[in-house]
Amino acid sequence: MGLVVQKFGGSSVKDAECLRRVAGIITNTYKAGNNVIVVVSAQGDTTDDLIEKAKEISKNPSKREMDMLLTTGEQISASLLAMTIAEMGYPAISLTGWQAGMMTNSTYSNSRIKKINPERILAELDKKNIVIVTGFQGINKYDDMTTLGRGGSDTSAVALAAACHADLCEIYTDVDGVYTTDPRIAPNAKKLDEISYDEMLELASLGANVLHNRSVELAKKYNVNLCVRSSITGAEGTIVKEVTTVESMMVRGIAKDNDVARISICHIEDTPGKAFRIFSLLAKHNINVDIILQSIGRENTKDISFTVNEGKLQEALDIIENNKDVIGYGELSYTTEVSKVSIVGAGMVTNPGVAAKMFEALYDASINIHMIATSEIKVSVLIDEGLENLAVRAIQDKFELV
Ligand code: ADP
Ligand code: ASP
Ligand code: MG
Repeated sequence: MGLVVQKFGGSSVKDAECLRRVAGIITNTYKAGNNVIVVVSAQGDTTDDLIEKAKEISKNPSKREMDMLLTTGEQISASLLAMTIAEMGYPAISLTGWQAGMMTNSTYSNSRIKKINPERILAELDKKNIVIVTGFQGINKYDDMTTLGRGGSDTSAVALAAACHADLCEIYTDVDGVYTTDPRIAPNAKKLDEISYDEMLELASLGANVLHNRSVELAKKYNVNLCVRSSITGAEGTIVKEVTTVESMMVRGIAKDNDVARISICHIEDTPGKAFRIFSLLAKHNINVDIILQSIGRENTKDISFTVNEGKLQEALDIIENNKDVIGYGELSYTTEVSKVSIVGAGMVTNPGVAAKMFEALYDASINIHMIATSEIKVSVLIDEGLENLAVRAIQDKFELV
């Protein structure tokens, strides 16, 4: 007997049939004597559909109103799931983010959880209710609804598991677990039995949307027992934990991210302090810079190129243009027609030649590399947009991650 948090993603709750299947998983866990907290996403493509509805009305809707709109998606699935479970003869109650005590900061559309006051949840568990909480949402200090960013229901689930000291947090989705890469891109991708928090965090941050990256961050911080598995097949999933027993597999996984843009600042005066100026300006505005490349100085000038998230591109360009005099450069250019492909593995650090093997795979596939970045556990390359799936498959085959 323990406390289990189970999260179900959009495809797992998309219609009545799926809701009944999910209710079966939940009630089986309950029947086995566990307390169960359930976190749900909006049904199917509901969140995308709501965003489309807003776009029909406004090009630039207020973020507060967007959060008010998007939080309705999760309320639909939570209430429907509570009804489904009740129909099966079990006690269930649905709670919104604010009823569940999910306190966030004030950043609409991309809030962070500050604190959870779980009293109501614990009281409902005491009454032997199955508690269903809307994922992806919370409430800020102004009593306004907030959302945690796309894919944020995973983070709601892990945060609740940490706050309520759950024994296990299960993320149910539409694949059997975490694979070496997206199995929809590379059908020969292999399911991993285990992956470390650090590797999973890198993969999620580099574009593998099977888990929201902040959910992994929280799981690591609070040592949450985390498992990713299928709501359809019942197969054993992937365990995400501190250290894995599969010793230092060179490359654990491959991720791609199309949501990147490259900015190039050319003919910068070749004197100390220029990089500092540029990147401190961007940091002050909370713009994350990823891959950075600086050319060797020639004729007293140099060029600096770097990547940012596509959503932050305009803001970054404005900052650089508005500070042209302070930075001192000749030309500013950008492109959004690039993608980032990365390999991740804790064993990489002790295995020279991993990067070379990745580059060979890209060469074999005739893919040109524009930029490269490496760290102890990852290598990322920037390539032309449209070639990323080909690149993922080529790397998957080269490393024989099968
Ligand atoms: P949910 O709605 O359940 O949250 P998501 O669509 O957010 O589901 O995440 C699951 C999807 O993540 C899978 O359908 C798969 O296409 C994609 N994915 C990307 N990278 C991976 C990976 N390495 N392993 C498994 N799935 C991945
Ligand atoms: N419904 C939200 C989204 O589509 C949150 C989630 O699914 O995790 O992004
Ligand atoms: Mg998701």
